[in-house]
Amino acid sequence: MRKLTILGATGSIGDSTLNVVAENKEQFSIVALVAGQNVEKMQQLCVQWQPKYAVMATADAAKSLKALLAQTGINTEVMYGEDAMCQVAALDDVDTVMAAIVGAAGLMPTMAAVKAGKRILLANKEALVMSGQLFINAVEKYGAELLPVDSEHNAIFQCLPEEIQTRMGRCDLDNAGVSSILLTGSGGPFRYSDIATLADVTPQQAIAHPNWSMGPKISVDSATMMNKGLEYIEARWLFNTRRDQLQVVIHPQSVIHSMVQYRDGSVLAQMGEPEMATPISVTMNYPHRIQAGVQPLDFTRMSELTFMDVDYERYPCLKLAIDACYEGQHATTSLNAANEVAVDAFLKGAIRFTDISTLNNMVLSNVCTANSSLHSHDLESLLEVDTMARQLAGQLLKEHLL
Ligand code: NDP
Repeated sequence: MRKLTILGATGSIGDSTLNVVAENKEQFSIVALVAGQNVEKMQQLCVQWQPKYAVMATADAAKSLKALLAQTGINTEVMYGEDAMCQVAALDDVDTVMAAIVGAAGLMPTMAAVKAGKRILLANKEALVMSGQLFINAVEKYGAELLPVDSEHNAIFQCLPEEIQTRMGRCDLDNAGVSSILLTGSGGPFRYSDIATLADVTPQQAIAHPNWSMGPKISVDSATMMNKGLEYIEARWLFNTRRDQLQVVIHPQSVIHSMVQYRDGSVLAQMGEPEMATPISVTMNYPHRIQAGVQPLDFTRMSELTFMDVDYERYPCLKLAIDACYEGQHATTSLNAANEVAVDAFLKGAIRFTDISTLNNMVLSNVCTANSSLHSHDLESLLEVDTMARQLAGQLLKEHLL
């Protein structure tokens, strides 16, 4: 039986993970659940799953959860804060950690799981974007097992030979006969909109993804295609690609979740319904396949599969992310931080949709100029870059400099 800690248990990936567990109850047990502030949902999960530990982000949230659990007679031990999250990610009686906290908040708990040599099911792409080589080095040093949950990376993983699947971050694509990786993206809700209308897009329109149901931050990132940019950086680290081996292709139907092109002209694609339960279940009992509770793909209902090149005028965030990927670690760390601030401000109605890329660009150029000689040898210096980029983004917002 696999013993799980779920980081981000109350979110969209948390839901899908627990649905997969419910489909395969005899194969998994839940040791710890971690969330931010959503006390009511965490209480329901504790009643349903009776984990040994539940961790919330703040003391107030933990206090409220304790009070609610006291009324139900559940014995779950309630804790709070980043140290407690790291602790439950590294428990001796846990072998598998679902890393699905949204944003930079996921980095330290995911790193704690890596350092404890766990099997990491990586949904929190931001951790890898923020710490790249350091993350991969830690996976190797501590003997952790890294399995990609993000649907595109999971698709690529499934299309690669086993010798690569077991060496995430350290694989040799040339040696495996791979010529390139094709990262597909739907283009989000605005792929056919007049570019001139994008400034007036509302948060409700931006989070209404045509194919996938996801949390608000990643939904906005999908609309700007920053999500594809973060995935590009994630793919660069997971599959150890060179620039000529990685390409983004727009595929509006989200039936193909990504592809691998081989030297001999073969292209392997992974297809399925746009349901995260599929990639999650691929990782949860790897290398064995389990029930995901997902409908089989019905080819008779599919009218067409189409593909197009990326229009960077429509998706400036994607261009910023690809450029940052080759600029260096300080660039991807600060872009990720700026984007979190920008998306939060957009969701709160403080800035326009098109201001997201403007703010990201301003922070990136500033941080890159100031830190082109910055060394990213340790997490502390990366966290400093993250803080600096957030402060700068906050200041630009406050001074209405967009
Ligand atoms: P959601 O917004 O739905 O959920 C986020 C989770 O993180 C919630 O459990 C939330 O808790 C928790 N959280 C937020 N802040 C903190 C914090 N400071 N400390 C601890 N926990 C915190 O996001 P998603 O599930 O959509 O995405 C999660 C991650 O997975 C992201 O990195 C995303 O990019 C990635 N991903 C998501 C996909 C999807 O289909 N949804 C697909 C591929 C990757 P609370 O509810 O209490 O706020």
